[in-house]
Amino acid sequence: MQLFDTVVEMGHERVLLCSNPDVGLRAIIAVHSTVLGPGLGGLRMWPFKSDEEALTDVLRLSRGMTYKAAAAGLNLGGGKAVILGDSKKDKSEALFRSFGRFVESLNGHYITAEDVGTDMEDMELILSETRWVTGVSPAHGGSGDPSSVTAYGVLQGIKAAVRERSGEPEVEGKSVAIQGLGSVGFYLAKYLREEGAKVIGCDIDAEATDRAAAELGVEIVPPDDILDVDCDILAPCALGALFNEETIPQLRCGIVAGAANNQLANAKRDGKELHERGILYAPDFVINAGGLINVYNELGGGYNRERALRMTRGIYLNLMRVFQISKEEGIATYLAADRLAEERIETVKKLGSRHWGRFIQNGEPRR
Ligand code: NAD
Repeated sequence: MQLFDTVVEMGHERVLLCSNPDVGLRAIIAVHSTVLGPGLGGLRMWPFKSDEEALTDVLRLSRGMTYKAAAAGLNLGGGKAVILGDSKKDKSEALFRSFGRFVESLNGHYITAEDVGTDMEDMELILSETRWVTGVSPAHGGSGDPSSVTAYGVLQGIKAAVRERSGEPEVEGKSVAIQGLGSVGFYLAKYLREEGAKVIGCDIDAEATDRAAAELGVEIVPPDDILDVDCDILAPCALGALFNEETIPQLRCGIVAGAANNQLANAKRDGKELHERGILYAPDFVINAGGLINVYNELGGGYNRERALRMTRGIYLNLMRVFQISKEEGIATYLAADRLAEERIETVKKLGSRHWGRFIQNGEPRR
């Protein structure tokens, strides 16, 4: 990889290599943009095959966070961090505290959070070295598990898509197929059932399907059948890269709207294909922003769940705007979502100075 060319092309502001051989720390922090606010994004711990793979991932993911925060209307930029290591074997207090010191050295340009391979306990070790961390437990003024808020945001996105299709946002009587009944999928099924929707679901974990069937009356189908379910809405809530040349032709839904990250294996090809087939796709980073909105609410004055939920309801309007751009410009919704994010960044850039939210102005991310 031509490192400097790549960073210039992708537009990153800073990339910090964090090395502390005494505690076995090898990490990279990438700050993509601080135009809208400090770059917030999770810390991923993963046994990357090479340094280059870790760098590629952190550059791509931090850029994605800039777009996610911008489209959600938050005063946040984009950042992300990776620790090169195995989360099952290599975790230690010293490792996370050392990482926390690197975060502190960036003085608020990067705020960390949980991601794949890290959890609330790791965030609390980081908190002992820096204030620039979110996703800590409610006991520390944090917001705890974001899944229910993420699901609540997905529900708002589904309503926006239903409104776009049928003129009314009600989900009562609609059929929704959920792939993955884990943390987010279960809550989503619960909200949908409460609003009178019919829910069909699958999971590779029998415990998850048994619970959803028993507690929520979800109709269970085998994992391999979920894409073939004839339904109004398909909600991917498992892994990414679900949609590709093979899976898209199987779909029998009018709307795709779910929580999973990076649902399109190839954004350009698969986003266009969904659009051309007349399937309304709610772009993943717009509809699943509830988790980010939730941790954002830890900053500046203490976490307030009501405020987090109120802001999360904004996902409805954000998606309506995406659909409007898509129609006005005759482009696929995945592109319209990029356009929405880019427009907001450009607007704020024109203000001429960094317009960071109140929480950062006095240098204190939390009370
Ligand atoms: P989770 O691990 O709790 O749940 C995922 C579920 O999907 C598990 O029950 C798993 O068994 C199931 N699954 C995996 N492969 C499957 C398959 N092929 N078919 C059917 N089921 C399968 O994860 P989660 O926190 O619920 O997150 C779900 C998705 O939403 C992920 O892509 C995640 O990145 C994304 N997301 C989550 C949040 C959040 O707040 N948790 C926020 C934004 C995005």
